This record gives sequence, C-alpha cells and structure tokens, in this order.
Amino acid sequence: MSHCKRCPVLITGFLLALLLAIAGRPVLAQTPANSMVVTVQPGDTLMNIALAYNLRLADIILANNLPANGMIFAGQQLVLPGVALPTPTPPPPTATPTPAPLLNMPVAESAHVVQPGETIYSIAASYGVPMGSLVLVNNLPNPDRLEAGQSLRIPVGAIPTPAPPEPPFAAVEFSEREIFQGRTLVVKVWLSEPATLGGWFEGQPLIFNEGAAGEKWAITAIHALLPPNDYPVVITATRPDGQISTRVEIITVIDGPYGFEDIQLDNSRAALLDADLLAAEREKLVALWSQVSSTPRWGGPFWYPAANPEVTSYYGTRRTYNSSEELSFHAGVDFSGAGTPIYAPAAGVVVLAEPLTVRGNAVLIDHGLGLYSGYWHQSQLAVQVGQTVRPGDIIGYVGGTGLVTGPHLHWELRLNGIAVNPLQWVRESIP
Ligand SMILES: [Zn+2]
Repeated sequence: MSHCKRCPVLITGFLLALLLAIAGRPVLAQTPANSMVVTVQPGDTLMNIALAYNLRLADIILANNLPANGMIFAGQQLVLPGVALPTPTPPPPTATPTPAPLLNMPVAESAHVVQPGETIYSIAASYGVPMGSLVLVNNLPNPDRLEAGQSLRIPVGAIPTPAPPEPPFAAVEFSEREIFQGRTLVVKVWLSEPATLGGWFEGQPLIFNEGAAGEKWAITAIHALLPPNDYPVVITATRPDGQISTRVEIITVIDGPYGFEDIQLDNSRAALLDADLLAAEREKLVALWSQVSSTPRWGGPFWYPAANPEVTSYYGTRRTYNSSEELSFHAGVDFSGAGTPIYAPAAGVVVLAEPLTVRGNAVLIDHGLGLYSGYWHQSQLAVQVGQTVRPGDIIGYVGGTGLVTGPHLHWELRLNGIAVNPLQWVRESIP
C-alpha cells in the first residue's frame, strides 16, 4: 500500500483518543497526601517519567490535570500517583531515579535538525536507516512527537542489535517478530529475579499477567494503518528495591494483506457521516473501551458470534466513502444472516447495550485487559448493561439498524482502543 500523509497522525490515534477522553473529565480532586512529587528536568518527557516510575501515562496526566497534549515544562512539579514518598530512614534515599536510556552504546553518527513537517518516518526514509534504529540511538520514548529544531543523531551502519537479556530478564519472546498490520502481538517474559513488569508499544501500556509456565505475558495491538517499519517494544522491570531495568526489543510491522473498496452512500445516509455526530458516538465508545481491567476474563480461542459464520466483509479492507480522499479501514468482520442469533464469543461483562445512530442497536462486551468486543446493527438486543456473559450466550439478533446498506452483523474487537482482526482470536488461542 502507498502511505498517506495522515498515517503518522493515525498511529497516534489511540493516545490522542485517550488524552481527549481524559481532557473532557472534570478537574481531579486533591493530590493524595503520600504521593511522590518530582520536578521536571530539562529534556524530560512525560513518557520518560512514566517509564522511570513504571506508571501509566494516563495516570500521570489525570493526577496532574495536564492539558490534552500532555505538555510539561522544566521546573514543573508533577505528582506521581501511587508512588509513595521515600521513607526517611538511614541510609537516606538517594537522588530520584533518572529515566534509563533506551540504548547505551556508541554509534558512528551524523546529525540532523528536524524541519517543520518532518516525521520520524520521513527522516528514517531520507537517510535509509531503520526507524527502530533512530528511536534507539536518540532515546525517543515517543517518536511520534518530534519538534522542529530538535537535533537527531543519525546512526551509520547496521541497526544496533539489543544485547542478550540481563537480570532480572531471563528471556523475552514475541508471538511474531514480523507481524501484519491489524494483528494482536503477545509478549512473553521470563524473569531470573523478582520484579514487576510494565512497558509500552506505540503509546499502549503493556500489562503483564501470570502465565501457565512461569512466564509473564502481555498483549498489544498493531494498528491496521501503522506504517510498515521497525518499531521498539519497551519492557521495564522494577525490582523490589525500586531499581528499574529497561529492555528494548524491535519488531517489524509488515503491510497487511487487505483489499480496498469505495463505498457509495446516498445523500440521506451520507448525512449520517456528519463529523459531530460521528465524534459524539465515538466518544461514548472510547470512554468505555479506554477502561482497562487488570485480569483477563476470556480463556482459549473465541467462538464465532454468528450461527452461520458466512463472512461478507473482512477486517482491514481499506475504505473510502463516496470516493473521498479520506482513507479509513473496515474495523471489524461482517456476517450475513438477518434475524439469526448473535452469541457471546467469550466470557465478559456487557458495558453497553443500546441503540446508537451510526452503529444501530449495539452491544459492547468487556473481556478484561483492555479487550472489548462490539456487535453493531442488531435488530434486537438480548442483554443488559452489567450482565455477565459466557461463550455461547445469546446477546441479540442480526439486523440492519444504523448506518448500513443491508442487514448484517458487524463484529469488532478493540484492544487498547485499537481495532484488531477478530478472526485471529477465533483461529488462535491468545496468549
Ligand atoms: Zn462492518
């Protein structure tokens, strides 16, 4: 696929959606009395601070009522929620930890001053270096936020290979090192010493769970329009004494095998694509699927949600409406079968069951760990908010409500707010 100028904007969509959702909330109450306060140093970024203290970006933004763009400045005092003040016992606590560099190795290099409009992708392409390499040698925890005038080190030669794992890391495994756009990535970590794991990929926090074989695992979403390239996955391990080790691994995102379609809508339906209306409905859903519960509710592969799983449109198809230049993609899988039952494909809790303008009669199920499934355009709903469902429970019936050209079930899977391919979850047992 050829890449649009909007792609760098699209990949930050999740983070922006999260920040916008946060920005809409009322001002937070008070600072918890026992939270640690740090002073922002020159060169600090919000992501660096989040990594150094093993906190989630969103939690820092909320606790400090920061602006939607997450802007901080040197000298500013930040409350770190949930980080206890150091206990004043001898020996006195040492200086506050500084963010660990992503990579610490000498690299032959030249320099580049970022020009207005340049992105990490365009700079990497113009020098012919892998983007992952640029991110590593410049210690860029958020490569989507380059500023004009910023100086970058341009590595010369091969991409630095991450060193073998050092304690507390024993081993790090990925379900795929080369992964299609739109898939779910599983990260597994084995530890040689006790530590608490965290990390991030493209603005998504990594939340680790206990695995069956002593490993810890996390899942993360590869956006369907994430430009193919090398990307860093950052994993942090915090020892009981507070010492943090950071491990950076590189994965390669490759162009997904997705088609293209231009959808023609008549005027009355096209009116439904009104930007305000789309935004309002989307905001409601974002507010729901941005909530991340810490335990998975599903187990094993997902079931098909349709009795006769005849797919009429696959996930990932690149789409335009009425031949406009706006590129989007099909965020779910469509099934035929008007009037037939829709089944819960996995265990979860219903968090939305109501008519929506664009998505029609809609159900959203929380499966835990930031994984949600949506069922749009139903003729009739059969569940209520708060209801716990098990695989095979009837949640509604296939219909043609909302913005549709004919009756069908649109089934969508959201991980950290990003639409991933639901059929991967039917075919594979994740993690
Ligand atoms: Zn659909």
